Amino acid sequence: MLTIKDLKASIEGKEILKGISLQVNPGEVHAIMGPNGSGKSTLSAILAGREEYEVTSGSISYQGEDLMELAPEDRARKGIFLAFQYPVEIPGVSTTNFLKTAVNELRKARGEEPLDAVQFLKLMKEKMKLVEMSQSLLSRSLNEGFSGGEKKRNEIFQMAMLEPSLSILDETDSGLDIDALRLVSNGVNQLRSKDNACIVITHYQRLLEYIVPDFVHVLYNGKIVKSGDKSLALELEARGYDWIKDEDKVEA
Ligand code: ADP
Ligand code: MG
Ligand code: MG
Repeated sequence: MLTIKDLKASIEGKEILKGISLQVNPGEVHAIMGPNGSGKSTLSAILAGREEYEVTSGSISYQGEDLMELAPEDRARKGIFLAFQYPVEIPGVSTTNFLKTAVNELRKARGEEPLDAVQFLKLMKEKMKLVEMSQSLLSRSLNEGFSGGEKKRNEIFQMAMLEPSLSILDETDSGLDIDALRLVSNGVNQLRSKDNACIVITHYQRLLEYIVPDFVHVLYNGKIVKSGDKSLALELEARGYDWIKDEDKVEA
């Protein structure tokens, strides 16, 4: 589904990603962990198509296509969901209207008929139940005046509605409390299937107690310095990142 090969990227002439390779297959959940400043958000920004980062070498292919050739909106149309790619606040546009447009645009891109009002409402109800979304949030302007937890809930709801092939969740800056953790995790777990994949970027080991990943990668200083299964997250919990930094020095 996603193949990243020896990706290097810079911002303002400073190299941030120093050769990242990653293979994500359908059905897999990958966690990317690592200390602050290691390049996690840079990686997700590049996957989202944010322009301030310069990819200096390497390649990213998504479903056989060169991702770098696709505009951000085309990435979304092809089933990539980035939790932060959607507008933070849109005054005057309710979540319902926003999603109706987004869902039907995606269906169009897949060559499917648009949903009519009744079908759309049915889908909304089904997904609301799945992510414990309240009706009142849906009629308010998108994200306007939402609390942190409500924004998170809304993101997961959007993800449920759009049924992406590849979801990328960069949770680092959200300061999730225990309720938000549980919510994000439930959402991700409910949406797991053999056909879709998810990359969960976090520096909280705790999140991975709820979302059990198939693979854990440690990003440190712009490189994936260690990969393993879920037991790696537990080891990081117990030992921190210092031992990996030390291993990195030995390799360097
Ligand atoms: P993480 O998400 O792992 O905490 P980031 O990807 O946010 O790491 O940052 C990696 C490095 O890139 C840091 O040293 C950060 O200061 C630098 N960086 C990120 N964005 C910018 C930017 N817009 N301008 C300059 N430096 C940046
Ligand atoms: Mg950071
Ligand atoms: Mg970050």
